[in-house]
Amino acid sequence: MDVTKIFGTNVFNDEVMRKWLPKDTYDELKKTIENEMHLPEAVADVVANAMKDWAIEKGATHYTHWFQPLTGSTAEKHDSFISPTPQGGVVMEFSGKQLAKGESDASSFPSGGLRATFEARGYTAWDYTSPAFLKEDAAGDVTLCIPTAFCSYTSEALDKKTPLLRSMSAVSKQAIRVLRVLGNKTVKKVTANIGAEQEYFLVDKKFFAERLDLIVAGRTLFGAPAPKGQEMEDHYFGQIKDRVAEFMKDLDKELWKLGVAATIKHNEVAPSQFEMAPIFTSANIAADHNQLVMETLQKVAIRRGLVCLLHEKPYARVNGSGKHTNWSLSTDDGTNLLEPGKTPHENAQFLLFICALISAVDRHADIIRRSAANSGNDHRLGGHEAPPAIISVFMGEELTEILETIAKGEKAKSKASTTLEVGVDTLPALPKDNADRNRTSPFAFTGNKFEFRMVPSSASISRPCIVLNTIVAEALDEIATRLEKAEDIHKETAYIIRDTMKEHGRIIFNGNNYSDEWKTEAEKRGLPNISSTVEAMKTFPEEKSVGLFQKYKVLSKGEMCARYEIYLGQYYKQINIEANAALDMVKSLYIPAIIHYTRELADAIGKLVAVSASADVQRDLLSKVSTHLESAYRNTQKLESEREKAFKITDSLKCSEAFRDKVLATMADLREDIDMLETLIPRKLWPVPTYADLLFKL
Ligand code: ADP
Ligand code: MG
Repeated sequence: MDVTKIFGTNVFNDEVMRKWLPKDTYDELKKTIENEMHLPEAVADVVANAMKDWAIEKGATHYTHWFQPLTGSTAEKHDSFISPTPQGGVVMEFSGKQLAKGESDASSFPSGGLRATFEARGYTAWDYTSPAFLKEDAAGDVTLCIPTAFCSYTSEALDKKTPLLRSMSAVSKQAIRVLRVLGNKTVKKVTANIGAEQEYFLVDKKFFAERLDLIVAGRTLFGAPAPKGQEMEDHYFGQIKDRVAEFMKDLDKELWKLGVAATIKHNEVAPSQFEMAPIFTSANIAADHNQLVMETLQKVAIRRGLVCLLHEKPYARVNGSGKHTNWSLSTDDGTNLLEPGKTPHENAQFLLFICALISAVDRHADIIRRSAANSGNDHRLGGHEAPPAIISVFMGEELTEILETIAKGEKAKSKASTTLEVGVDTLPALPKDNADRNRTSPFAFTGNKFEFRMVPSSASISRPCIVLNTIVAEALDEIATRLEKAEDIHKETAYIIRDTMKEHGRIIFNGNNYSDEWKTEAEKRGLPNISSTVEAMKTFPEEKSVGLFQKYKVLSKGEMCARYEIYLGQYYKQINIEANAALDMVKSLYIPAIIHYTRELADAIGKLVAVSASADVQRDLLSKVSTHLESAYRNTQKLESEREKAFKITDSLKCSEAFRDKVLATMADLREDIDMLETLIPRKLWPVPTYADLLFKL
């Protein structure tokens, strides 16, 4: 496979544009993209026509405005290029208007009350900063996909892309201000970059098909542990099995065609768990690409008789999945602003951006935590695998020491015992962190980027990225304002470092985040420990949160309120689905199987007694099984009534609380009974595939 020949073949990228667009149109489009201006309609017409010709040559018949509604997945409505002619035939047409703007009845997408029913239309607008691409389906149909933003008639964002683009502008604007005061006269744009590492599980399709819980809820609601878990630590980076290797090869190929630079693939910690990561790119494209990654993972898996599970915690007692989101800022001349430089000047700049991160994360730890909250992640965070629910920043010993020393007003001494004065001396070389150095931190500085490890595996990276961009914009805004007023930039930089460490240094923690001591220590430091999605969502309406997003024009108050309602709705609806699936499985599969076994035991006892043989074992088993069966039956009834009661609560927050405290809690009790019964009942009578089937039979 010649990757260079495959890569980007389905993307309307720069090379394709150069080839298919007249030179002046190409120049005009490039200028529009670079300066984020409005595209004149005449130019849009030429672009649309070229795009259509290119797509048709590659077999396309339809186009779609591809967008990311607040459901968390992507949406598309296909329109064909055909247009009737007076002679009764058709021609293939695609205008600039059709490219730039779409209108659709969008009443079935979540709007959180932003769109009144009388105005059910939603509008999609072309995001020309992310290239159009072709999607091929199994039927051989090819569709031209145009990445778009999705908003209401009154321009309120109904999607994840709009605020992402706004937050990227906000952080760019403030970063440029800081760079300007530091003497950079040329930078025109600062870009937030993301590299998202995607974890996932694979399961054999035939086992998956027999598990209603996996089918409708994405996670197992029952299942006794397999004899083996992940205790041997033999899966992580282990040899990739042939069947999986073939899947991964297929996946790479499909992603490369879409221009996704998939580069890393390996086995993860849990059995049947894997990871892929693309090379980082601008946040907006990375978010689009991650959606394509999730979609392609599932599509390719099916083709190979597998199912890809993106849920954060498909199985109890083994690791769950996350999406480590690597974030950095770079200038239009390619400088990474989170990379320590070689000159004193570059280092002062580096330290200021690091300070912005420290103060932003400390000030808004609650909002960051919220950006990674969903019902699936509640099963993952705080366990002994994923990052804890407490937000802290890992800086590494060396950098922390440098910051602390500067904060004390002394000349910083590095381990190599060189001294350092901000803006005058160069920093000692910092050791680059590798993934193993502190895997327990939820937010780690890894040499030239920050790695946010809390992000849920099934979620869009837009939410955490919007938050990071916005809180950093605020911190940079403050830094820029101080520097703009300062007489001596070097001195002021040192003061900023001092103040940051004094006010926000508590967020830095380089130790073991899984330890109990850290929980106590974090509490002493006053860091929030937000244990569940419902608690995290409570920060939405708070003035601090609303004010922040309003100030940087990322989300209006209305848009925030809508999101609050939608995310809470998603939370309790998900648990409601889980409760329904649990009830269905217990009533239609588990209880009948268990009753069948009790009958077998009772028959056996009767027969044994008739011949005066001992039936002690059978009696003992029958008594144990019956005890758990009764308990399971009681919990089933309780779950039914709790679910019903919770669902009747009209206030979203109270409803979510009831689902968390009553419904989920009863589901856990019910699971205990069923899992215990699974260990008592003959394998051949157990009605669903076991954990051993699901985890070890790939
Ligand atoms: P790890 O040690 O965590 O495995 P890698 O270097 O393999 O780190 O990178 C993991 C992800 O981080 C990849 O997607 C990679 O492209 C991305 N990444 C690397 N550098 C940056 C950067 N400057 N900004 C954002 N993401 C980056
Ligand atoms: Mg990593």
